[in-house]
Amino acid sequence: MKILVLNCGSSSLKYQLFNMDDESVMAKGLVEKIGLGDSELTHQPQGKDKIKISADIPNHGVAIEMVVAALLDKEHGVISDMREIDAVGHRIVHGAQMFSASCIIDDKALADLETVSELAPLHNPPSILGIRACCEKIPGVPMVGVFDTAFHQTMPAANYLYGLPYEYYEKYKIRRYGFHGTSHRFVSARCAELLGRNDAKIITCHLGNGSSLSAVDHGKVVDTSMGFTPLAGVLMGTRSGDIDPAIVTYVMEKEGLDTAAMNAVLNKKSGLLGISGVSSDMRYVEEAADQGNERAKIALEVFRKTVVSFIGAYAAEMNGVDAIVFTAGIGENSALERAAICANLTYLGVDFDAAANDCRGKEVEISKPDSKVRVFVIPTNEELMIARDTKALAESVK
Ligand code: ADP
Repeated sequence: MKILVLNCGSSSLKYQLFNMDDESVMAKGLVEKIGLGDSELTHQPQGKDKIKISADIPNHGVAIEMVVAALLDKEHGVISDMREIDAVGHRIVHGAQMFSASCIIDDKALADLETVSELAPLHNPPSILGIRACCEKIPGVPMVGVFDTAFHQTMPAANYLYGLPYEYYEKYKIRRYGFHGTSHRFVSARCAELLGRNDAKIITCHLGNGSSLSAVDHGKVVDTSMGFTPLAGVLMGTRSGDIDPAIVTYVMEKEGLDTAAMNAVLNKKSGLLGISGVSSDMRYVEEAADQGNERAKIALEVFRKTVVSFIGAYAAEMNGVDAIVFTAGIGENSALERAAICANLTYLGVDFDAAANDCRGKEVEISKPDSKVRVFVIPTNEELMIARDTKALAESVK
């Protein structure tokens, strides 16, 4: 079975074609600057040279046409007939309370999904465009939606309700949703496999440009650090993470900012970048700190402190922890951050293995064999998770 996985942004579209017989990637690529002129498709077939095609790509429909043409291309393609694509899996950022698991996107689901756009105005509409475009350009194959929020829907009310008037939850659906759910699901399931048990208490740390932690007990999320939006939780590349909410109105008044400008401050000018003034990219902040830049040093300390605090909070909430997982760009690649975070976890029973930690981008256990709490680096693979869900659901409607 061959599954096409799509991740649509407002002006971009990422794709991977999986052969699910062995879960291998047959081709992957990216369409950039859709609707902005100067658009480009980068196509990487497995085992062949990467190609770039510049063209006018005014909308997602034309982008999908180009992706299908690249997949079918005599020289650079990997399939000979469009009918070889058995199903399409779509990454969708927000599923609200309506979508607590991946599902087939039929007309009813698409109509429901439209109502969720208000909660994710930047992210959901491009996914809907992508689904509509696929229905037209790759007709007759099942479309599956896989939601970043779905895995977190098992959170109890005590962990998703904010201390606000209850009517805001009822009227505006204001609650904690959490994001990166597909990644937390992938790595927590793999961790359970490595532990050889399904009843473990696991804390998953997805640390990338955007970062979030989840507490997973018996395979279900009990708490997660992102909230109503992906702005909440730990310090991120350019996002503030948790702050005193009163700061928002105070700064708006002092700086004369409207809501859009204040949103930009919190989402694009804060985090590692805001504190260090150097970069949002962890590599450059680590480098600057190493060279003695004081603000870069403080930015790293704030990042580490927020991660350590959430791990402590989640161990307390679950009344214990069996394993901690690091994943995503920083979690998989920065031995320095992992070591600094684990240095504050000895009280939990983490016996850190510095030699094992000296690695990048591969699955490895970084705690010593007798460590009470086991610590793993597990590379995430959200696209594969989407392909697996899509295969299962497509088979169920055959
Ligand atoms: P996104 O959230 O955009 O998917 P990623 O998961 O790719 O982001 O993570 C990007 C982050 O990973 C950046 O801050 C980058 O600096 C960091 N990163 C990647 N490689 C390294 C490395 N070798 N050392 C430290 N940080 C790294």
